[in-house]
Amino acid sequence: MELYKENQLKIYNSLSKSKELFKTVTEGRVGMYVCGPTVYSNVHLGNVRTFMSFDMVFRYLLHLGYKVRYVRNITDAGHLENDADEGEDRIAKKARLEEIEPMEVVQRYTVDFHNVTKKYNFLPPSIEPTATGHIVEQIEMIQEIISKGFAYEVNGSVYFDVIEYNKTNNYGILSGRNIEDAIHNTRTLDGQSEKKNPQDFALWKKADERHIMRWSSPWSDGFPGWHLECSVMSSKYLGEQIDIHGGGMDLKFPHHECEIAQSHCCSGKQPVNYWMHANMLLLNGQKMAKSTGNHILPDAILTGNNKILTKAFSVSVVRFFIMQAHYRSILDFSNDALLASEKGCNKLMESIKVLKSLTAGKTSDFDVKAWKQKCYDAMNDDFNTPILIANLFEAVKFINLAKDNKATITADDLTILKETLHAFVFDVLGLLDDEKKQDSNKIDGVVELLIKLRKEARENKDWALSDQIRDELLVLGIQLKDGREGTTFTIS
Ligand code: AMP
Ligand code: ZN
Repeated sequence: MELYKENQLKIYNSLSKSKELFKTVTEGRVGMYVCGPTVYSNVHLGNVRTFMSFDMVFRYLLHLGYKVRYVRNITDAGHLENDADEGEDRIAKKARLEEIEPMEVVQRYTVDFHNVTKKYNFLPPSIEPTATGHIVEQIEMIQEIISKGFAYEVNGSVYFDVIEYNKTNNYGILSGRNIEDAIHNTRTLDGQSEKKNPQDFALWKKADERHIMRWSSPWSDGFPGWHLECSVMSSKYLGEQIDIHGGGMDLKFPHHECEIAQSHCCSGKQPVNYWMHANMLLLNGQKMAKSTGNHILPDAILTGNNKILTKAFSVSVVRFFIMQAHYRSILDFSNDALLASEKGCNKLMESIKVLKSLTAGKTSDFDVKAWKQKCYDAMNDDFNTPILIANLFEAVKFINLAKDNKATITADDLTILKETLHAFVFDVLGLLDDEKKQDSNKIDGVVELLIKLRKEARENKDWALSDQIRDELLVLGIQLKDGREGTTFTIS
């Protein structure tokens, strides 16, 4: 259903600093790019908050009936230790410290990231491209920027000429930074002397002899600058003008400002129509961050194996906790906050169970249609999940009254209530349907039992029974596979 036709979605655009009506480049389709993790360490819950915010955006766009191409990259090269093109490559440093190959670091933390996103019920993006898989395209973009006169080579490295770009364009358009201030406030750091201006940024860095992550290029054996990969991969997969580009607030400058400059001087267009920035998750009043040790890992919340929480919490509780704040607001992580979220989440889930057993009456004491509209209004107002959740609790209140026979609802309204509640709780907010999970555990158990019985039949040379079990399961969409380690199954 093309619900987007009747829903006026407004998105806060960081570029215009205002809420704007969402109009897509192509009718019915959305191209969305989100900066992915730098895979040099485990993702912490702060990273998870940002990615979950965009998972919710992705889910709501799908719910509205858009065909979404969602690209979230993996940064596996070029991200240096600080933003001033200085220091070691984060992945190369980790590889050096652990005495392993950089690609082993990349593999380890990409797998960790995927495990976390799966456990936390994220929908997978449509494309997940890597920086190292797009070196050729990055070199081509650098050549184009040089040919347009906005980049220069020094000693095998190539830098973007911010001053030259700013003569005809606005460097600072997104972050609001004034380039003159930037000139005065930027220290001349060691190793930066080859730049014409301190605020220029690297497009290509020549690798010194110790640097393992290197590729050949027209300028030197080296590696691309961090900002370049996102310009390259977003235009490659989504075109020169994309609908939405997202990331955490801390990426606005310099990362996204530099992305705009690079893309704009190649295409002559503003590359992104709606810039979206998610706010930070705090712990002990400070930004959750790997570098300061002020963080908690998503797995440790599920196991309870950490020093911050008094108990383990479920995926749904963590998602509820993150969704009950607006994505543009700061959110404080604490044991008390999670306990409160657990209470709220349980209450919501309980009422969904109760809803199943409600019987219809002749009249409705709940204006379901007006309530449903309020839920959409909340989400259409820049994805306001806290208001949505407050609306969901109006339904919870009604369901509890109806359970105690203090209110009634007609059959038609009951259907709308069920469908709407399910859609927002499970499809849009992405909370997990524990009952469904229990059902699937039960199915797994039954199939395991049938596999055991089939094994016994085969041991008794009862081939007819063994084949019957296999064939009838296949009709149900359950395929058995006999292997050396025993029999496994897949459910289609
Ligand atoms: P990184 O791997 O460091 O590039 O970060 C991946 C994403 O997580 C980026 O979009 C960051 O903005 C975001 N991020 C990092 N720390 C936090 C935090 N404490 N709260 C929310 N998002 C964060
Ligand atoms: Zn990026």
